[in-house]
Amino acid sequence: FTIKMDDLLLQEELGKGQYGTVKKVSHQVTNVVMAMKEIRLELDETKLQQILMELDVLHKSTSEDIVEFYGAFFIESCVYYCMEYMDCGSLDKLYGDGVPEDVLAKIALSMVKGLKFLKDELSIIHRDVKPTNVLVNMKGQVKLCDFGVSGQLNKSLAKTNIGCQSYMAPERIRAVDTYTVSSDVWSLGLSLVEVAGGKYPYAYDNMFAQLRAIVEEEPPTLPDHYSEEARDFISACLHKEPSKRPTYAELLEHPFIQKYHDVDVDMESWATQALESRQK
Ligand code: ATP
Ligand code: MG
Repeated sequence: FTIKMDDLLLQEELGKGQYGTVKKVSHQVTNVVMAMKEIRLELDETKLQQILMELDVLHKSTSEDIVEFYGAFFIESCVYYCMEYMDCGSLDKLYGDGVPEDVLAKIALSMVKGLKFLKDELSIIHRDVKPTNVLVNMKGQVKLCDFGVSGQLNKSLAKTNIGCQSYMAPERIRAVDTYTVSSDVWSLGLSLVEVAGGKYPYAYDNMFAQLRAIVEEEPPTLPDHYSEEARDFISACLHKEPSKRPTYAELLEHPFIQKYHDVDVDMESWATQALESRQK
């Protein structure tokens, strides 16, 4: 089925990003609750069809580690992207002072599986791996969203405000257009350090100092109370030299992931409690 604005009942705002607003909506034809992202575009009518076509691949294959895509439509200079609603929100609002190691391992596993799926099944590099793009639901499921499916959509984005935390790998700051799959591996590692420690690791008061530190300083590490396996996983992802970072297949075999392979971590309780402390 196709989604139209007329069929949607708008509910509360879930958040605002650099390109627009995300709202909770209810699709009255199917009774499905969705998250609708409004993305303002630099107007160019001829490109709209191409964006819709590019988004269409998302209907063809799905994964439990990726937020489901329901459909998109255009009104004036905005694209409305409808996706699965994740009722605990994004990781940045849930990690508090940092998550325990077993929870971190399961988050890492979902993220690696999601990134591997995008690459193997859809030939997509995510390009925007960060805690706000990792969503959680009450079942304790962890899923990626906001990956660069549509090249044309990316080109047409109208930035409304500029982010002040950079998850860019050192090689991206040094040179333009050197984005490869291993740049996503860096962003994965950096996001996990943040989720583990409870704060963005490069704390500088200006963007220049922050970017300089990413390029010049030693990469951040996990707090001491994490195991050797966990610390090694992170330092492998945060290798300054992109070609030395592990592949997704290697990460799935890593001792940190393997250590918790047969451990049934209660992600549902973690998610519910994290949401509760957030609301206090
Ligand atoms: P940026 O614009 O820098 O990528 P962002 O990821 O926070 O930042 P958006 O992607 O616009 O910006 O999302 C805004 C907020 O909406 C997110 O931080 C997240 O908390 C919430 N959100 C996004 N998608 C969903 C969803 N499918 N379900 C529930 N909440 C969501
Ligand atoms: Mg986002």
